[in-house]
Amino acid sequence: MSATPKTLQDAKSPRIDPKKLVAGAIALVALLAFPLVSGNPYYIHLVETILIYAIVLFGLDIVVGYTGQVSLGHAGLFGVGAYTAGVLVMKFGLPIYLTLPAAIAVTAGFGALLALPALRVTGPYLAMVTLAFGTIIQILINEMDFLTNGPMGITLTKPQLMGHTMTEDEYYWLVVVMLIASLVFVHRVLRSHLGRAFEALRGSPVASDCMGVSVYRYKVYAFVISAGLAGLAGALYAYSEQYISPNTYNFELTVFFLLAIIMGGRKTRTGALLGAAIVVVLPKLLDDLELFRYVSVIFAILVTAVTVVAYRRGKVDLKQAAIPVVGSIALAVLSFVLQSMTDWRLSIFGLITLFVVYYLQDGIVGFVRNALHLKAKPVGEGGPVAEKPSDAISQAAGSGAGAGAGDEILIDARGVLMQFGGLKALNNVDLQVRRGTVHGLIGPNGSGKSTMMNVLTGIYVPTAGELKFLDRSLVGRTSADIALSGIARTFQNVQLFGEMSALHNVMVALHHSFGSNLVQVALHSARYNEEDAKARARALSLLEFVGLSDLAFEEARNLPYGKQRLLEIARALALDPRLLLLDEPAAGLTAPDIKELMRIIGKIRDHGITVILIEHHMDVVMGICDVVSVLDFGQKIAEGKPAQVQADPKVIEAYLGGQAA
Ligand code: ADP
Ligand code: MG
Repeated sequence: MSATPKTLQDAKSPRIDPKKLVAGAIALVALLAFPLVSGNPYYIHLVETILIYAIVLFGLDIVVGYTGQVSLGHAGLFGVGAYTAGVLVMKFGLPIYLTLPAAIAVTAGFGALLALPALRVTGPYLAMVTLAFGTIIQILINEMDFLTNGPMGITLTKPQLMGHTMTEDEYYWLVVVMLIASLVFVHRVLRSHLGRAFEALRGSPVASDCMGVSVYRYKVYAFVISAGLAGLAGALYAYSEQYISPNTYNFELTVFFLLAIIMGGRKTRTGALLGAAIVVVLPKLLDDLELFRYVSVIFAILVTAVTVVAYRRGKVDLKQAAIPVVGSIALAVLSFVLQSMTDWRLSIFGLITLFVVYYLQDGIVGFVRNALHLKAKPVGEGGPVAEKPSDAISQAAGSGAGAGAGDEILIDARGVLMQFGGLKALNNVDLQVRRGTVHGLIGPNGSGKSTMMNVLTGIYVPTAGELKFLDRSLVGRTSADIALSGIARTFQNVQLFGEMSALHNVMVALHHSFGSNLVQVALHSARYNEEDAKARARALSLLEFVGLSDLAFEEARNLPYGKQRLLEIARALALDPRLLLLDEPAAGLTAPDIKELMRIIGKIRDHGITVILIEHHMDVVMGICDVVSVLDFGQKIAEGKPAQVQADPKVIEAYLGGQAA
């Protein structure tokens, strides 16, 4: 209702950096011209393999880099793609324009299967389960002779194109086209609300859910998209090699994929390409001593150059600078000392990997970017245009509703019991929150205040009791569902999406305002562009409302603590809540910041949003709350107007018993 068309146009989504565009164009021309220039089928095939691996890595990076899950099942998925194409060609003679989509679809289905364990376990356990998944696929391919020819494998030819069999060069160009298509697709998806959802669930799963972005759904979604890309790559690989057999898709390949992401660096497409190049070329390099000496010297020079630049710019200290330089020079020296590489192959590969994992935690691309100041900037992003802040706070609650406060009961909790083992964190608590009020919830530490919020937002399911929000029960519903029905919150221990900008943090909570599907996102349809521009403008205005416009493009983890708390409020407001839960918003804030916070809470209330406020600062509570409930050891011991509660002997006793009042 607020943004004029002009505002929407001005607040465009990020444009591409012209420098990047030129670099990309040059790279593309070089890539396309390569077969003509090189003329050597061996090298053409090598580059083709790198490009195919890069497609797998684009997808794997969605799972590993963005959602923060581990997958050792991607070689298996790669195999599913290869065999889908292989079997369809062998059994039915299908053309490539059918086998590629089929491979994508079938593998995406397997991706959904692989996602199931990720919903239950994380970390090393997930690695184990996905590894088992990959192994099972390899065994199935081996055993299902009737379909896959078993260990014999499948031989195929290069695909047909307009009546003739493609030449090596033509097929290479097809792979380049597929790589570009995958690159654009992945890039657009990751920059959209879908990509923000993936990134958010790495940053803080609990906050994702409480912002209406279902962790469950988006984990599956990430695995499915990732698997689709692995399927495409697998099918391309089958035609490229012209022969597929089960033992290609083994443990080693899956480890290589993961290493490529780690070495190249996560959350970067350049890193995926570089990682692919490393894992394809390095083993071959180590077979050829002459070539290896040559390359390791160049490598040492490059590393030294980058590190010197980084050191001069103060990006790394002397010790940090010394390690990569010494490491790469040592490698070069080693190459001249050794007479035969064959025995040392694996050790060197292992050492390089360890080195990257320990010292270049953002991978090679991350390190170079940081050193050379190439950190992806939000070029031309958004612009200063926002909606009028006061309009942006709430579009759902209806403004000016503060006047009619006090009649309708928004939250009706009766006899709520929350038990952790023998501890009753909430013990038979009744709580009625009236619409349009600021309802204080106070009590000594450990009295159950945060637990009440967690119960209200679906993080905990109460052991017993009734909980209603607008006459609908909250018990047993998911956090995402509750959030979307109008309850937003902040967290006592700040739960931001640390690696995302302040703007994107808020945009995660605007996820509900997007209706575009994957295809519309990939094509940048008119609908998607409009949704994106609207969300961006809205997010900017919310940041302005809490006074963070200047920090919109700063990563959330870099904000000062007090600002992080304000950012959480802006993010919560993006949900268009009817009820806002604030868990100790003033903790850690300076006195002027607290004043500002009180002003903000007042404005939120004026917009008709009901607030439940947990707070230790008594002046805040007394100054702003309409009603205050007091908890002690999980029980409600008092309730009423602030002054009345403050004078209550039971309350004084509770506070004096726990800590100095
Ligand atoms: P506060 O009023 O300080 O916010 P909490 O609601 O965080 O208190 O905690 C109330 C009590 O419940 C504390 O004793 C706490 O240790 C316990 N508690 C909270 N969450 C859990 C949990 N997930 N598991 C076990 N005990 C918990
Ligand atoms: Mg608490």
